[in-house]
Amino acid sequence: GNGARVPVLVIGTGYGGSVAALRLAQAGIDVHMVEMGQDWSTVPPGPDGKIHPKVSSPDYRSFWMRTRTKQPLSNFLGFPIDKAVPKYAGILDAEDFAGISVYQGRGVGGGSLVNGGMAVTPKRQNFADILPSVSAEEMYGTYYPRANSALGVSTIDPAWFERTSYYQYSRVGRKHAERSGFDWTFVPAVYDWDYMKAEDNGSVPKSALGQEILYGNNHGKKTLPKTYLAQATATGRVTISALHRATSVRPTAAGGYDVVLEQINTAGDVVATKTVNAGKIFFAAGSVGTSKLLVKMKSTGALPALNGEVGQGWGDNGNIMVGRANHMWDATGDVQSTIPCSGIDNWDAGGAFAEVAPLPAGLETFASFYLAITKSPRRAAFTYNSASGNVDLSWQTSWKQDSITMAKTIFDKINRKEGTIYRTDLFGTNKIWGDHLTYHPLGGAILNKATDNYGRLHGYDGLYVIDGALIPGNTSVNPFVTITALAERNIERIIAADL
Ligand code: FAD
Repeated sequence: GNGARVPVLVIGTGYGGSVAALRLAQAGIDVHMVEMGQDWSTVPPGPDGKIHPKVSSPDYRSFWMRTRTKQPLSNFLGFPIDKAVPKYAGILDAEDFAGISVYQGRGVGGGSLVNGGMAVTPKRQNFADILPSVSAEEMYGTYYPRANSALGVSTIDPAWFERTSYYQYSRVGRKHAERSGFDWTFVPAVYDWDYMKAEDNGSVPKSALGQEILYGNNHGKKTLPKTYLAQATATGRVTISALHRATSVRPTAAGGYDVVLEQINTAGDVVATKTVNAGKIFFAAGSVGTSKLLVKMKSTGALPALNGEVGQGWGDNGNIMVGRANHMWDATGDVQSTIPCSGIDNWDAGGAFAEVAPLPAGLETFASFYLAITKSPRRAAFTYNSASGNVDLSWQTSWKQDSITMAKTIFDKINRKEGTIYRTDLFGTNKIWGDHLTYHPLGGAILNKATDNYGRLHGYDGLYVIDGALIPGNTSVNPFVTITALAERNIERIIAADL
C-alpha cells in the first residue's frame, strides 16, 4: 500500500527479477516484486474455457493495450490477418519504436509466458564476444549449470522426434540443412517433453500440440511461475503486486529510494498512485523497460548521477524471420508442435544461427519457417524525448540488412540446392524478410559500463540492474538462459558483499 517500506523492491518478474527474488529470499531477505502485467493464474478463462487462446485465434487476451492485433506474421497467402480487439492488459506487447517493434511478455513471469521456450547455452568459444568482462570458467562451471537446472531445461527424446507427425516440419528442416552441408542440432527447451508425448497420444489437453504459443501456454511449458517464482513464493518471503507499474525512482534524505507505482486496471486506466520506500532496488523490467526507466530518471533529474552509458548499447540479437516455399513432396505437416527443437548452425562461417520454427496454421502450408539469430554489429541508444515525455530508440529499419545478408548465407544456399524460393506472402505483399521486429531485446544498461561488473549502477548505492539490459546486444543464441545465468552470478556476489 501507499507509504509502505520494503527492504528490497524488484521491478519486473521476468528471468532477472525471478532469480533475484528467489536467491534474496533464500538468504533470509524479504522481497517485494511489482509487475505491470497481470497475474495470469488469477485471470478467469475466456470464451474458449481457457486462460490463453491459440496462436491462430488471437483475441483481447493476446495483446498489451492495443486496439488491433499485431501478429508477427501479419499476412497469409498475401491477406492481412490482423483484426480489431478491445484494449486490454493482454500477454504480449508489440512495443513500437520508430525503426523496430519489440515483442515482450507482460504478466507475472515476463517473457517466459510468451516465448518459444528454447533454452540455449551459447558455445563456449563465443562467450568472450557475448560478455567480455565475465569469466567463462565461472559461467560454464557454475552459473550456466545452475540456471539450466533451475529452469528445467532438457532436450527432446530423439526416438520420439523421429516418429511424431508434430515434428515433420523439423525433420524437413534437417533434411534441407544437411543436404546443403550445414550443421543441424537439437535445441534444448523448457517444455515438459513427457507432457508433450501425452498430448500426442491424446491422454491430456493439448498445449504445444494445440497451437499454443506467443499468447501463452495453458500446460506443458515450464514458465517462471512454475520454476523460479514458485520456489520464491514458497519461501514465504516474496510478495508480488501485479498490475503495478513503476514510474519513478528517487533517493530520499533518510536513505533508500522512493518509488512511484501506478496501479492500473485491465483496460490500462490508473486506479491508484502509490509511493513506497525501498532500501534497495533491482531493475528487472527487461532490456526495454529498465532502459526506459533509467534514461528517464537520469534526464528528468530524479537520478542525475547515473553515468552516460545508461541507454547505450542496445541490440536486437540480430533477429530476422523468413519462410521458404517447399515442393509438394516436402510437406511440413498440417500439425506442428509450437516448441521448436532444432536449429541450423552457420555462426562461424556466416554469422547466422537459424531455428527451424513452426507455422502452426492447422493446414499444410508447404512452408519452412525460420527465426535466425545473426551477428549484427548494429547498436542503438535510448534517449528521453522531453517534448513527448517518451523514451525514443535510435534503431533504423535499414540496419536489418546486415542480418538479412547473414541469414542468406544459409537460405540462399538451401534454395539453390533444393530448387526452391522464398515465401513472399508472410510479412506483407511481396515481402520476403520479417525485418520489422525483434523478440530478443538486449542491452541499454551494459554490464561493466552503466554498472560495475556485477550490475551495481554507477552513481547510487543500492540500485542494481539484473535483467537483459546488462547484455551488450547479442548472445549468439536465444537469450534467456544467459540472462538467467548472469543473474545467478551477480546476485550471488551482491548477497555476499552488499546485504
Ligand atoms: P522480461 O522477461 O521481459 O521481464 C520483464 C518484466 O518486467 C515484464 O513482465 C514486464 O511486464 C515488467 N515490467 C516492465 N516495465 C515495468 C515497469 N515499469 N513496472 C513494473 N513492471 C514492469 N528467449 C529464449 O531464450 N528462447 C526463446 O525461445 C524465446 N522466444 C521468445 C519468443 C517471443 C515471442 C518473445 C517476445 C521473446 C522470446 N524470447 C526467447 C526472449 C526472452 O523471453 C527474453 O529475452 C526474456 O524474457 C528477457 O528476460 P528479462 O528478465 O530481461 O525481462
